[in-house]
Amino acid sequence: MRFAHLARVRERAVVAGAALADLFFPRSCVSCERLLDAGGRDLVCGRCWARVHDLPYPRCDRCGHPLAREHCAWCPLLPPFVRAARSVCWIPGETAGAIVHALKYRGWRGVAEGMATRMARLAWPSDVVSERTALVPVPLAATRERERGYNQSTLLAYALGARWRVPVWPRCVERTRRTSTQTRLTREERRRNVSGAFGVPLDAQSSLRGAHVVLVDDVITTGATLGACAGALFDAGARIISIVTFGRAPAIGDRG
Ligand SMILES: [Zn+2]
Ligand SMILES: [Zn+2]
Repeated sequence: MRFAHLARVRERAVVAGAALADLFFPRSCVSCERLLDAGGRDLVCGRCWARVHDLPYPRCDRCGHPLAREHCAWCPLLPPFVRAARSVCWIPGETAGAIVHALKYRGWRGVAEGMATRMARLAWPSDVVSERTALVPVPLAATRERERGYNQSTLLAYALGARWRVPVWPRCVERTRRTSTQTRLTREERRRNVSGAFGVPLDAQSSLRGAHVVLVDDVITTGATLGACAGALFDAGARIISIVTFGRAPAIGDRG
């Protein structure tokens, strides 16, 4: 009875603000709900992190996609000025999916820290490491960001930037028109949906000239959104763009 009441109170507190709930209630893992050690900052337990497997080898040097055959079938999805792309794990995977869901839809901003820790460990070609000038988060639609109160890609970019010691340019790309939700669209429909949907504000263009910037997003699915953002950055003067995400959706023929 008492516990049921407490659970209800906790639910309401979560809605009111996850940060506030954290002060008064013991925290549980956002994926499996097991209680977390007091004082720790990670919102995902060690057992759940152990179930998030890195993308399998061998991987393509450029796009980081696991190779099923000699030639990478995924690289052609990325525009030629994209130097490299890297992701931590497959999405949807049960645990990885729950982690992304907690960040995007359940208000658990702190989950970005543990995700960025894994993203920061990804290996890159040496030129990317020496050249990367700034991290640029993929923008959310303005209404979506207002509802959510934050952009999950911006949280990931700041958490990753702190680990890489690379600055974040948070308003470098913006949405210039509305796009429909991509969930049910095919690869070609997604490409058309986001084509020309991003632009770079005038005041961001001078710092962008000649730069190698790294686009940050939570998940890459068909590459349509990230490709369109990369195109906007390139058109505005960036020389090279790389891409980093936490999750990556498998394409047809990929190994699980
Ligand atoms: Zn867990
Ligand atoms: Zn590739």
